[in-house]
Amino acid sequence: PAPGTKLLQADQARKSFGGLVAVNDVNFEVDSGRIIGLIGPNGAGKSTTFNLITGVLPLTSGRIAFEGHPLQAQTPQRAATLGLGRTFQHVEIVADMSVIENVALGAHLRGRAGVLRAILRLDRAEEALLLDSAMRALARVGLADVAYEPAGTLALGQLRLVEVARALCLEPVLLLLDEPAAGLRVGEKKALAKLLREVRSEGMSVLLVEHDMDFVMSLADRLVVLDFGTKIAEGAPVAIRQDPAVLEAYLGG
Ligand code: ADP
Ligand code: MG
Repeated sequence: PAPGTKLLQADQARKSFGGLVAVNDVNFEVDSGRIIGLIGPNGAGKSTTFNLITGVLPLTSGRIAFEGHPLQAQTPQRAATLGLGRTFQHVEIVADMSVIENVALGAHLRGRAGVLRAILRLDRAEEALLLDSAMRALARVGLADVAYEPAGTLALGQLRLVEVARALCLEPVLLLLDEPAAGLRVGEKKALAKLLREVRSEGMSVLLVEHDMDFVMSLADRLVVLDFGTKIAEGAPVAIRQDPAVLEAYLGG
C-alpha cells in the first residue's frame, strides 16, 4: 500500500469480559508506512486491543478492518496470512531449541503455511527458505551470532528481540509490538529504535505498545491513548506530552 493510505481501521471496537469493558467503543486508524504508539496506564486495554486485531479474541461489538476487509471470525493464523505480525507482552520461547529454530518454528506456526503444513512437514527446500528468512530476521535484530545457541541461554532483552525477529520473519504489512523495549539495555533499545525506523522507511507500519515514554515518543508519528478501555487522546507526540487528560490518566486516578 502507498505511504499514508489507511491500513487498519477500528470502528467502535468493543471488548467486554463479563461486566468489565476492557475496550470501550474505540476508534482509531493506522496508516501505511507509519509508527503509531498505543499507550495508556496498566489495564487500559492495550494488549486486549492487540488480541482483537490479531484474532486471539473476538470483538464484542464494532468492527476492525484491515486493508478494507473486516477482520471477523478471525483466527491468529488468518491474521498472519493477511500480513499482521505480532509479539506478545510475555515472551513465549522453547528454551532447549536453538534461537533460529524458535524464530522459524514460531513464524511457521503463525504463518502463511499454517499448522497443517507443520504437521505434514516441510520439504527440504521449504525448510531452507524458512531458515533463510529466520536468519535474515535475526540479523536485523542483531542476534545472528547467537542463532545456533539454545534459546534458554539468552537474556530477557535478547528473548524480546527473538520475538521481534519471529514477527519480522513473515514480512508483515503491519507489525504489532507489545512492550518490545521492556527489559532491554540502553544499547538494545537504540538498536530496536533504529530497526523500527528502517522498517517504516521500507513501508511497513508499526503499532507499538510501550511503557518507556521516551522510546515511544521518539519513534511514533502519532499516539493513541487509552485509559480504562476508552480513547482519551490522539495526536502527535508533542501534543500528547502536554495533554491534560493524558497527564491526569498517568499521574492522577
Ligand atoms: P493493558 O495491556 O493496557 O495493560 P489489558 O488489555 O491487558 O491492559 O487489560 C485490560 C483490562 O481487561 C484489565 O482490567 C484486565 O484485567 C482485563 N482483561 C484482559 N484480558 C482478560 C481476560 N482474558 N479475561 C478477563 N479480563 C481480562
Ligand atoms: Mg498489556
